[in-house]
Amino acid sequence: MTHFIFVTGGVVSSLGKGISAASVAALLEARGLSVTMVKMDPYINVDPGTMSPFQHGEVFVTEDGAETDLDLGYYERFLRRAKMTKLNNFTSGRVYQDVLNKERRGDYLGGTVQVIPHITDNIKARVLRAGEGYDVAIVEIGGTVGDIESLPFMESVRQLMVELGDKHSMLMHLTLLPYVRSAAELKTKPTQHSVKELLSIGIQPDILICRTEHDVDADTTRKIALFTNVQARAVIVCKDAKTIYQIPRNFSEQNVDDLICERFGFHDLPEADLSDWDQVCEALFNPEYTVRVAMVGKYIELPDAYKSVNEALLHAGIQNRVKVQIDYVDAEGLESQDISVLSTADAILVPGGFGERGTEGKMAAIRYAREQGIPFLGICLGMQLAVIEYARNVAGMPEASSTEFNRSTKYPLIGLITEWMDERGELQQRHAESDLGGTMRLGAQKSELVAGTKTREVYGKAEITERHRHRYEMNDRFIEPLAEAGMVVSGYSADQHLVETIEIPNHPWFIAVQFHPEFTSSPRDGHPLFARFIEAAKKQYQNTK
Ligand code: GLN
Repeated sequence: MTHFIFVTGGVVSSLGKGISAASVAALLEARGLSVTMVKMDPYINVDPGTMSPFQHGEVFVTEDGAETDLDLGYYERFLRRAKMTKLNNFTSGRVYQDVLNKERRGDYLGGTVQVIPHITDNIKARVLRAGEGYDVAIVEIGGTVGDIESLPFMESVRQLMVELGDKHSMLMHLTLLPYVRSAAELKTKPTQHSVKELLSIGIQPDILICRTEHDVDADTTRKIALFTNVQARAVIVCKDAKTIYQIPRNFSEQNVDDLICERFGFHDLPEADLSDWDQVCEALFNPEYTVRVAMVGKYIELPDAYKSVNEALLHAGIQNRVKVQIDYVDAEGLESQDISVLSTADAILVPGGFGERGTEGKMAAIRYAREQGIPFLGICLGMQLAVIEYARNVAGMPEASSTEFNRSTKYPLIGLITEWMDERGELQQRHAESDLGGTMRLGAQKSELVAGTKTREVYGKAEITERHRHRYEMNDRFIEPLAEAGMVVSGYSADQHLVETIEIPNHPWFIAVQFHPEFTSSPRDGHPLFARFIEAAKKQYQNTK
C-alpha cells in the first residue's frame, strides 16, 4: 500500500514547496524507497499547455506527452527512478471539467452535484491512482493555505488522511520565519497563524519546514513546536541554500528521512547515500572559470520561461567544471540593435518558442554564430530558424520562411505536415491512414541518428528518445537543396522520417534539434547535448581569452 506525504504552504507563496517536496523525495529514494510525486494546481485552466510562459513559467512536457506545471521538472531532476506522467499533475479546472462532463452525460441521475463529495471524490481518486505501485507518493498542493481556490484540495487531503490513517499518511507544511531587524529576531507568529489556519480546516501538520534567511536556535524551534502541536524534532529549519541541490543533504542532517520512515514503519532500510548530491554541490562551488552563453529569446523578462534550459546549462557546467553564466538577449532588440552584444558570448543558444515575434533577431544571432564559428545550439523553434537562416543566406532562397509566420511563402522550409502533403496530393491518402491534423507533436519519440555525424558522436548511439512539443516540421523536399549547400540532416524520427536534428560541418560546434533535450537533463546525470555544447563553449573561451 502506498504511503502519502501531503505538502502544503503557508504565510507567503514562492517558498519553494516544490523543491522542498522534491528534496524529501530524493532523500527517501536514497534510502531505497520507490517514490513518486504529484502536483495539484488550484487554478481553473484545464492544463498549463495554453498558459503564457510570461505569467506561469515554462510548460514542462512529460514522457507521455502531458503539458504540465514546471514543478514536475524539479521532481524529475531530483528523482532517478520515477518518471512523471499525465497522472502526476492536475488542475481544479481539469477536475471540474471531468465532473461537469459526467453531469452532462447523466451519470449522477439528476442528483445534486456538489463540491463535497463530487469534486473531492474526483480529487481523491486521482491522488490514489497516481500513487499506485510506489512505496511513497509526495503530493504537493499548489497555492497557500487560506486561499479560497485551494479549499477543495485541502478538504480532499483531510478526508484522505482520515481514510489512510497515521501509518500511511503525513502532512508537511512549509512556512516562513521572517526576520524583524528592529527586534533582531526571527518571528514565529506567522507560522503559528498558518498552522491555525490548517487546524481550522481539520488538518494537523506532522512536519514543519521553516524557511529562513538566518540560523534558528533550539529555543525558537521548541517554541514553534509548542504552539503548533508538532514534535520539536519535526520542526525542520531550511535556511536559504547556495544551491537547491544542497537541500537533500540539509534535510538528511535533520533526520527528516528517519522521522518519515519511523512513522510509516519502514525498518531496516540502508542509510541514505547522498554522495552523488555532494559531488553536484562540490562541482557547483568550485568551477574553474565562467563561460558565457547568450540565450536569445522572447521571454527574457521571466527566466522561469526557460527553466529547464537554464537547469540543463547549469548541469552541463557541473559536468565540465565551469560556471555557466546565461546572458539573456532580447531577440526583438537584436533586430534593430548592433549584433555586437553577442561578442562576449562563448556560445549562443536559441530556445523554443511560438509565433513570429523576435524571429528575425534570432536568425541574426544564428547567422552570427554560424559565420563567426561560435558554438551554437538550437532547440525546436531554434532549429527551425537555423534551417531558414541557412536556406536564406547560404542556399540561395532569400524568401525562405515557416508557414507559422508566412503562409504564402514560396519556400516553406518549415510547415505543417498536412500542408506539404496537400502540395503533393498525398494528404487524402495519409488522412485515411492516420489522424494527422495541425496537432502538436508531444512527448517522447524515437529518432535515428545518421552514422558519421557529429550529433551521433555526441550521443554515442544510433537510437535516441527525446521529448517533443511543436506543430511545425522541416519540409522534406528541402533536405536535398540544403544538403547540397552544406547543411547536414543528422537525425530522423523513427516512425515518420521527419527531420529531427541538423548540423553544420566545418564549424566548431553547430547542432540544432527539433525536440527538447532540456527536459531530460538532471544535475547528477546531465545530458550529452548540453554537456558537449558547454565543452565547446570552454574551447571557445580558451581560444579567445
Ligand atoms: N512554434 C514552433 C512549432 O510549433 C516551435 C515550437 C517550439 O519551439 N516548442 O513547431
